[in-house]
Amino acid sequence: MDIKGTTKITGLFGCPVHHTFSPAMHNASFEALGLDYVYLPFEVRPEDLEGAVKSLIPLGIAGVNVTIPHKEKVIPFLDEVSPEAGLIGSVNTIQVKDRRLIGYNTDAYGFKKSLKEVLGVELRSKRVFVMGAGGASRAVCFQAAISGAEEIVIADIEAGRAETLCRAVAGKFPSCRVGTCPVEAPAIHKVLAGKDLFVNATPIGMKPDDSPVIQAGWLSPDASVFDLIYNPEETRLLREARERGHKTTNGIGMLVYQGAKAFEIFTGRKPPVETMLRVFKGKLAVHQ
Ligand code: NAP
Repeated sequence: MDIKGTTKITGLFGCPVHHTFSPAMHNASFEALGLDYVYLPFEVRPEDLEGAVKSLIPLGIAGVNVTIPHKEKVIPFLDEVSPEAGLIGSVNTIQVKDRRLIGYNTDAYGFKKSLKEVLGVELRSKRVFVMGAGGASRAVCFQAAISGAEEIVIADIEAGRAETLCRAVAGKFPSCRVGTCPVEAPAIHKVLAGKDLFVNATPIGMKPDDSPVIQAGWLSPDASVFDLIYNPEETRLLREARERGHKTTNGIGMLVYQGAKAFEIFTGRKPPVETMLRVFKGKLAVHQ
């Protein structure tokens, strides 16, 4: 990589950031398109977030991604947020444009886009069951509502968290049926009947001995399964659902498409998605 006086800087604000694959994905993409950009990891402690965000303009940085634990806390320091990021209440990409800081949420886009590109599934009119009501689930649920899902059911081991997210989505999308479900086998089994899409937005499945959050046998025959986990590439839930003939996908597509959208926001160029995917999978193979 040839860093010059003209090189535009992008990067990632998070804490920690040592695990990130984003620099590899973005730098390979800049190189593939011959763009004079670089992407760097910045470990920003929570108490330094405001200062770090305020430094973007004077340092001439083109934009940054934002990850845990800063995605919500960063919003008050921005000049503007996209409608999606405003609804979700979470920003994972900041663009510096005309000395203004604009926040976007490309996680939600990554979810929608990978659902379409990998599974051929659109969210419009779908009945969706989402397990987990944390940060990732927020992006999934709001995107489902934005895209015209007919029904969204949210379940979380912490029932109050599911209720809070349910009220937030329902409050903004009165035409979408939004509800919750207790995390108990008989209730989930019953509510899953008739759902078109099951999304696992919990970390359950990352460890080899994790039992799946649902039994694949509870799914409607035509239901698709989206597990946000990307390591391992195929969780037990995905394997069991695939073996029963369901369309399945892991979280790799979501991660790569959120990065691709950020790349487009930073550079104004069409992202080389194949390069991003290849680099991401290469990194993943080393870390498995
Ligand atoms: P999070 O904020 O911790 O949310 C997970 C939620 O699931 C928590 O409320 C958690 O409750 C709940 N939960 C845990 N076990 C459960 C169970 N058995 N049944 C129901 N709910 C349960 O995590 P997150 O940031 O949203 O991430 C969730 C998953 O998505 C992680 O695996 C993460 O790696 C993945 N992810 C993928 C992408 C992608 O682009 N592919 C992006 C973001 C996240 P407790 O806190 O009480 O345990």
